[in-house]
Amino acid sequence: PKKVYLENLNKTFITTGNDKVVAVNNINLKIKPGEFATMLGPSGCGKTTTLRMIAGFEMPTQGKVYIGEENVATKTPDKRDTAMVFQNYALFPHMNVFNNIAYGLKIQKRPKSEIKERVQRILKMMKMEDFSERVPGQMSGGQQQRVSLARALVMEPGVLLFDEPLSNLDAKLRIHMRDEIRKIQQNVGITSIYVTHDQEEAMAMSDKVIIMNAGVIEQEGTPQEIYQRPVNEFVANFIGRANIIDGEIEGISGKDAIVNIHGISYRTKAYKNFQTGQKIRAVIRPEGVIVGKQDFIVKVEKSVFMGQNQEYGVDFFGANLEISENNPTGKTIYRAGEQMGIGFEERALHIL
Ligand code: ADP
Ligand code: MG
Repeated sequence: PKKVYLENLNKTFITTGNDKVVAVNNINLKIKPGEFATMLGPSGCGKTTTLRMIAGFEMPTQGKVYIGEENVATKTPDKRDTAMVFQNYALFPHMNVFNNIAYGLKIQKRPKSEIKERVQRILKMMKMEDFSERVPGQMSGGQQQRVSLARALVMEPGVLLFDEPLSNLDAKLRIHMRDEIRKIQQNVGITSIYVTHDQEEAMAMSDKVIIMNAGVIEQEGTPQEIYQRPVNEFVANFIGRANIIDGEIEGISGKDAIVNIHGISYRTKAYKNFQTGQKIRAVIRPEGVIVGKQDFIVKVEKSVFMGQNQEYGVDFFGANLEISENNPTGKTIYRAGEQMGIGFEERALHIL
């Protein structure tokens, strides 16, 4: 597997109306060999453009694309040691599965015996031996996407690229396929860059999640880092559910900050330097709110039983606060209109 480094990468499109669209705005990124990295962000934030610049389908306006030790920024796709899996599968409709997978090797003029051996090995790995004679029209979406993955893997590229490969599949199959892709990726040990707008998919599959917004990287980190320590409100709101609350720094104690939330003091880890008296905003996830504590007495506005959780919406100083109480069976359930005591779990409070 190869590493992928992007240095000051920029793509500005000039539209037919002569407008400039900065699709990718000076991105820097390091992806290690064998890593599964996911670019996640809203539609139009520049994920596909970045991926296409790595693949060579799009030339950067500025910047460098390292694949392994080599800057490939001006090279054509076939000189880059990458293979891409697309959302729409992009299979040849008139070719059977075997020939679809063999196509790239034929272009490379590999010996027939080698082609047969490699295609059969991939078919076996993906448990698709029985499909080799079928054409794409005779297969389901999920099966076609597996062929498209097999076609990329058979090339044994240094880097595998995915652009929303599961978006056309139904929810259940999507979950099955993401587990399958992750398993294969780990078995083969191939560097993978995956693009999605689905945060659950990103969290479930990735070693590293890269949050993009309007052409820039807002944050990169493990799924845990991104969820527990978002750097700003955009990331906090994009990943999972977030309550953003106001507070003030009361004091600093070693690596901790004492933060005052509407008159109650909480001690939590500080990941930046704060000054005593500084006004801050903090993130608390719905599961970080403790029901039954008496730090605040709030009015319940919404109460919904979800099986694993009891979901509450309460009025917290004029704003909605979402609460998710795990494993509600046997616990007091509060109804809409009732008063409820709450507090915050200290280590779950993250100061922005
Ligand atoms: P994403 O994949 O995150 O949805 P894209 O990378 O496709 O986003 O697009 C990023 C921005 O660049 C969008 O504003 C999009 O409209 C614009 N864009 C993409 N391709 C072109 C193009 N060929 N010409 C002009 N603008 C483009
Ligand atoms: Mg896209």
